[in-house]
Amino acid sequence: MDAQVIRSSSESPSARNTGYATQPPLQRFLANCYEEFKSDNSGAVADYIPELRRANPAHFGVALVTIDGHIYEVGDSAVPFTIQSVSKAFVFALALEMVGEERVAAAIGVEPSGEAFNSIRLTNDNRPFNPMVNAGAIAVASLIKKDSAAAGVRMFIEKMQLAAGRKLRIDGAVLASETTTGNRNRAIAYLMLNFGIIDNDVNHTLQQYFSQCSLLVNCRDLAIMAATLANMGTNPVTAEPVFDFQYIKDVLAVMFTCGLYDHAGEWAYRVGLPAKSGVGGGLLAVVNRQLGIAVYSPRLDAKGNSVRGIMVCRELADRLGLHAFEFTNVGSSFMQSML
Ligand code: GLN
Repeated sequence: MDAQVIRSSSESPSARNTGYATQPPLQRFLANCYEEFKSDNSGAVADYIPELRRANPAHFGVALVTIDGHIYEVGDSAVPFTIQSVSKAFVFALALEMVGEERVAAAIGVEPSGEAFNSIRLTNDNRPFNPMVNAGAIAVASLIKKDSAAAGVRMFIEKMQLAAGRKLRIDGAVLASETTTGNRNRAIAYLMLNFGIIDNDVNHTLQQYFSQCSLLVNCRDLAIMAATLANMGTNPVTAEPVFDFQYIKDVLAVMFTCGLYDHAGEWAYRVGLPAKSGVGGGLLAVVNRQLGIAVYSPRLDAKGNSVRGIMVCRELADRLGLHAFEFTNVGSSFMQSML
């Protein structure tokens, strides 16, 4: 399938001056959103992983990919950054495919935690609350790791490459930084070992987890990945099947209720889309059977979510009527056409 790529007007001032009126409406909409929020400088770049401090706080990119493979992007949509917790949605899909729903459910819950992403609290039955917080993702890493750490990481990268439709690599500096400073994640892992949620090979599990967080992507990759989820697991740009479609609803449901940690309720209320954020500054949202949206802006709020990412998604959802329960969205009008 041919992807129609429309570059950002913001990267080409002459195009902005001459081509604006002829831009497709969605592209114009993204350009407007970009202009509206680019002067907002609230929030701060993550610094608890030392290497993440190096991100340029001014960077701001937005990308939108439809399930028929059209790509719209604006701003710094090609700037690389580490995927961090956005990976949690995809490795959850991987775990469901590799070991099945029952084993995943025995190790990890699906309840919003109402707590920070790095909370060490487990449920009353000693499972992590859900796969979108660190504890849950570390338990997922334990389920999907292979006999050799290298093989497990390779398998993860290969899956993500299919979802992005291009070659990807791990950022070695971020991985090293996170490995040396990740004692809180180590503590979470040992607590789960104590309760028999993960096996003895804690270092190996953490290596899988730290590596997955250190995958380099850009905003456009995340939008294609989000559109792959929107498109029942098939990458709409390459037409390549990536995720088993029977698990997509599980992944989207957990993203909807838990994707933004202790902001998840507010997000479901205001934006109403399955989504996932990461402390690298990436945020993606899925409009089921329609499109994927991604924002990159590394200034984070106190809960570790991209400030501009939330603003853009809220604006898009409002203006385009994308909230899952919006009466103007495709689901409701589809039902109406059946009456
Ligand atoms: N690698 C980060 C951590 O484990 C991921 C956190 C995040 O993106 N919210 O702390």
